[in-house]
Amino acid sequence: MTIFTAKIISKKWLSSDVFELHIERPDHFVFRAGQFVQFQIPDGEKTIWRSYSIASNTHDTHIELCLKFLSEGKGSRYFNALKVGDPVSFKEPQGKFVCSNDVQAYYFVATGVGIAPIMSMIREELEVKKSEKEIQLLFGVRSEDDVFWVDRLEELKRRYPLFNYMITLSQPKPNGGWTGLRGRVTEHILHHLVSHSFYVCGNAEMVKDVREILIKNGVATKQIHFEIF
Ligand SMILES: Cc1cc2nc3c(=O)[nH]c(=O)nc-3n(C[C@H](O)[C@H](O)[C@H](O)COP(=O)(O)OP(=O)(O)OC[C@H]3O[C@@H](n4cnc5c(N)ncnc54)[C@H](O)[C@@H]3O)c2cc1C
Repeated sequence: MTIFTAKIISKKWLSSDVFELHIERPDHFVFRAGQFVQFQIPDGEKTIWRSYSIASNTHDTHIELCLKFLSEGKGSRYFNALKVGDPVSFKEPQGKFVCSNDVQAYYFVATGVGIAPIMSMIREELEVKKSEKEIQLLFGVRSEDDVFWVDRLEELKRRYPLFNYMITLSQPKPNGGWTGLRGRVTEHILHHLVSHSFYVCGNAEMVKDVREILIKNGVATKQIHFEIF
């Protein structure tokens, strides 16, 4: 198993508890959009490993991560303390949550940092593969303060007419002026799209609920792909 070591290039907070990291992309670091990487985290005398999905596309010269900061989390604290120029070590990319070739149209569902592998897959389809397939994204976060990457999504929508996205807030602020969708992603998922392939990423409960809705409405299990964080 190859272990890569590369430096942090940039770090940017996207909301109060989500930050984006860019890491140098080592030579020979090859991955498929949607895959994740296990990072080596020092933990006292021991080493522990934590998985983070790659959010960049395969042509980007850096590796992009999108991390949720958990104040008591070991991986979270480690990454939060890193500064630009610090090295990180990680294994080869892994994972089967990747786009398959026989997809007619995509419907992506993400909550929170579950957007990370999905951003990679959407950008890969649009920017690298120049795919002519319809791509829809349903992105759920808690409140107005937790929304991030809208500028990117808007830019992708502007450049690629086959791409569209919706954001839903499960707990919008009472006087926040949010005019978009409200409620959990399960309330808005377009389950009648039986010819679409569904790619779902987020916490276990959300993934389970979305799968149940899709299967109940006739979407074949082979068309439902998921990653649980
Ligand atoms: C395939 C895959 C891809 C993933 N991709 C991403 C990604 O792109 N972005 C991302 O943010 N995450 C991702 N994850 C989740 C990530 O791997 C970690 O599980 C997550 O960051 C938490 O790890 P941690 O070390 O920070 O927390 P841990 O130390 O493992 O703690 C886990 C939980 O326990 C709580 N906890 C720990 N110690 C205490 C304590 N003493 N008191 C109270 N509570 C405590 C923490 O707050 C946390 O909620 C992915 C997971 C998988 C499996």
